Amino acid sequence: MLAVPRDEVEETRRAQLIEVTTDSLANVGFVGTTLAEIAGRAGVSPGLVSHYFGDKDGLLEASFRALARVVAVRMRERFALADSPRARVQAVIDANLGPENFDRRTGNAWLAFWGQVLHFEGLKRVQTAYQRRMLSNLRSDLRRMIPGDAAASLAAMIAAMIDGVWLRAALSEWREADSESARALLTAFVDGRLRELARSPPGEGTRTVGSPEAAARADAGQSIRVVNPATGELLAELGADGAAQVDAMVEKALGAQRQWAALSGVERGRILQRAAQLLRARNAELAELETRNTGKPIQETRSVDVLSGADCLEYYGGLAASIAGEHLDLGRAAFGYTRREPLGVVAGIGAWNYPLQIACWKSAPALACGNAMIFKPSELTPLSAVKLGEVFAEAGLPPGVFQLAQGHAETGRLLTRHRGIRKVSLTGEVGTGKAVMADAAATLKQVTLELGGKSPLIIFEDAKLDNAVAGAMLGNFYSAGEVCSNGTRVFVQRGIRAAFIERLRARTAALIVGDPLDPRTQVGALISEGHTEKVLGFIARGRAQGARVVTGGGRVTGGALSRGCFVAPTVFDQCHDDMDIVRREIFGPVMSVLEFDDEDEVIARANATEFGLSAGVFTRDLTRAHRVIAQLQAGTCWINHYNVTPVELPFGGVKMSGLGRENGRAAIEHYTQLKSVYVAMSDIESPY
Ligand code: NDP
Repeated sequence: MLAVPRDEVEETRRAQLIEVTTDSLANVGFVGTTLAEIAGRAGVSPGLVSHYFGDKDGLLEASFRALARVVAVRMRERFALADSPRARVQAVIDANLGPENFDRRTGNAWLAFWGQVLHFEGLKRVQTAYQRRMLSNLRSDLRRMIPGDAAASLAAMIAAMIDGVWLRAALSEWREADSESARALLTAFVDGRLRELARSPPGEGTRTVGSPEAAARADAGQSIRVVNPATGELLAELGADGAAQVDAMVEKALGAQRQWAALSGVERGRILQRAAQLLRARNAELAELETRNTGKPIQETRSVDVLSGADCLEYYGGLAASIAGEHLDLGRAAFGYTRREPLGVVAGIGAWNYPLQIACWKSAPALACGNAMIFKPSELTPLSAVKLGEVFAEAGLPPGVFQLAQGHAETGRLLTRHRGIRKVSLTGEVGTGKAVMADAAATLKQVTLELGGKSPLIIFEDAKLDNAVAGAMLGNFYSAGEVCSNGTRVFVQRGIRAAFIERLRARTAALIVGDPLDPRTQVGALISEGHTEKVLGFIARGRAQGARVVTGGGRVTGGALSRGCFVAPTVFDQCHDDMDIVRREIFGPVMSVLEFDDEDEVIARANATEFGLSAGVFTRDLTRAHRVIAQLQAGTCWINHYNVTPVELPFGGVKMSGLGRENGRAAIEHYTQLKSVYVAMSDIESPY
């Protein structure tokens, strides 16, 4: 038996009493937390508690110190993995708002302490030291990115926002925010602020912002500068829509929708099909615009982005006339029928990776069903949706049936919260999905959420190797990896791993990264500098956590590419399920290869994620393929292919990857509501 040294016993006891104090503060608050209460909870005598801490003040100070120390340790751990000033700022945010301490128990304990800080010197000391450390870390990292006064001001804002989200989360009893959405809010704020500072002339970088809401409100009404991420060139400047504009759009849409819904399905369908033809006719021009705005290679936008949007308009144009309810026989005395009616005015909110396609995926079914749509593209990629609006108008769509709201997240929120809008369909991150759903709840709007993923792609030993390699590349490097359904966890069965890696390495290393407008380019630019930093941060963490870079692994510079956001297609081998690159959505050209032995094992590992957007299986054994697919928790699956999304097949996720479906007949259900009608065919037999 091992003898435990006395000091260690004492330390363990102290730590236990501190833990119990945190529990007590969380449960019964500051006043209820007495030495007797702690002793009772810990099953020791009050004398023993005072032996360790003196009095209640001593106990509380030690407990507060312990809480602050946990954050400091987490911060140090994250600093060790951060390889850029921006990543270090993120480390501060993540350490303060990480899931391991952003919870009811810890939050309530912090809240109890905060309430006492002004009256209690010991607690004040801890709080001051904690705040000072956070501010000085933030300031010194920010100074490496922006001028000193702007750095000091932004550091203060970040610290205030961290406190603010904690406080609001605690005061709302953890209904208003969770770790993920809190971090998403801070991250978006910091990225947005850095972007603004990067483009504002010196001296303008210190505008103070009081709260995230105020920051967001201030953004609405500002102009949106649209930049080519491959060159940094300014493409356009647009005004952002605020509350007055959104109200006017909804008003206009309400009137237009009634007339639109009064047309027959054939008439509505004809207009959508005409729009499809116009899109096809303008493929070259629109593809070029999309390439300039997104950084995606022209060979992709010419063959997918515009044409898949046109397919979608054509498909729903064809379906419009057949949208119908059903007839129900209720015996001789009655029959029933259902009417499939439009919802009214609906909103679409898009992400930046497939701007035109997303606008079509949302507007085509919405309009086919007789709704009017107000669509908000991502602030980063607002241009092609403007062209879609022009195409609709030319095709004969009545004014007001499709309108664009341009702006940042706050404009999206105006739509999501608007009383006149009956549904919102979002494509975006999980955190945004939660925020949209919460906002939509106040007016009981329906929601369709197409969110993020970390999808598994499973390659069995009997798979055709070249197909499997091609599938993995399609599922990771198309659109520079900025595809929600990407199969970024590539599970390869042990027997073929070496051969797979070798073939993959050779083909990936040969990919042409370059000017997106050059037809030979296969991998273009990422969407923004901020996003590029995020992707590079993941690559650095992959390395630091022990994964091996097979190919790629860094920024691509040289010549004109130095002006843009280019990252080499990257393959990591020797990955483990608990690495950051394997657990979190990167949304860049980064593939993680994992090894597995048998079917049950790989199914369990593939499902061990909060996401559930997509999955793929490569095998020549089709019985196994169907058996495995049936057990995978994913909304959209492929057998012996990856990432093909024909409009006929419903698309969407399960678990945290979303709600509802786009494409296929399934989308009709999400843009209509049923009215049930009972029709009596005989006199009423009245009991009265
Ligand atoms: P975001 O979630 O950041 O933004 C999506 C859209 O929502 C943008 O127009 C954004 O405006 C807006 N928005 C942000 N916050 C709010 C809010 N609180 N209320 C209303 N609207 C809001 O996503 P990204 O644009 O960064 O796109 C990348 C993400 O999208 C990835 O997670 C990816 O997986 C997912 N995605 C999912 C797909 C799917 O079908 N499942 C397909 C493609 C992408 P603004 O940009 O102006 O801030």
